[in-house]
Amino acid sequence: MADLTERDVPTRIDTTKASIARVYDAALNGKDNYEVDREVLRQVRQVAPEVNQLAWDNRDFLIRAARFLGTQAGITQYLDCGSGLPTAENTHQVVQRVNPEAKVVYVDNDPVVLAHGRALLEENEHTHFTAADIFRPREIIENETVRAKLDFTRPLALFQVGTLHHYDERQDEGHRSPGEIMREYVDALPSGSYVVIAHFFDPESEPYSELARKMEERFVHSPMGTGLFRTRAQIEDMFPGLEMVDPGITLCTKWWPDGPRIKPLDQVQYCIVGGVGRKP
Ligand code: SAM
Repeated sequence: MADLTERDVPTRIDTTKASIARVYDAALNGKDNYEVDREVLRQVRQVAPEVNQLAWDNRDFLIRAARFLGTQAGITQYLDCGSGLPTAENTHQVVQRVNPEAKVVYVDNDPVVLAHGRALLEENEHTHFTAADIFRPREIIENETVRAKLDFTRPLALFQVGTLHHYDERQDEGHRSPGEIMREYVDALPSGSYVVIAHFFDPESEPYSELARKMEERFVHSPMGTGLFRTRAQIEDMFPGLEMVDPGITLCTKWWPDGPRIKPLDQVQYCIVGGVGRKP
């Protein structure tokens, strides 16, 4: 891959190709998506009728984890990799409700996010946006906006929520595993920092594993082209040397839910996990 700088991030919106941000927006009933994006979901829906629930579980986990970090861990700086298109409750809204001065830097490389998401996400002086490739940790860590707005001598929270399953080391020039990418990030974080990850999951037990395989096949061969369901061991590898916050890596919907569960889980809900780790 060639070097990607803010100038090089595509600014033309190609409506013939699906984009991760827009497919996710469509799954969350947003308005910033095209026919080609909705087609991805239709293809996956043939094997997983409840596919939208994957997106909702991911998003709800992000919101609960952000609230936990703001209220209990006392984190005041956030590096949100893969912001996505603005939805009802974005990271900065959650954490700035707890502390209006909490700093948030969003990073994304999608032209639609750049075109109008950025304006909505950068709604106050403590919230910033930068365009870069989140699977190149060195570039993010050394990014001008990231360095100017976040203080790497104090604990911060790094979010990779719903992002790493779109990274395929087989397609990447360096063939680095997601675990290796996360190690480079974690090495740069000060002690007391937190890492939040949500990831498509292959539970390695039937019938969910078969469902995960089928969804992966559909995502990868759809106009979006990405979406890998990884195993517990592979996802654990993405929290190198971190102490896991209770209950560890678990189904997103089971990570400190807002209330009791009275409705059985949909099958897809067994196929996305999240976790929060703390650097000792
Ligand atoms: N983190 C948000 C959430 O969980 O609600 C959004 C998740 S969305 C599924 C994934 C986001 O990651 C998209 O906005 C997409 O554009 C972004 N993304 C994917 N690959 C990226 C890359 N290599 N560099 C920067 N952003 C990327």
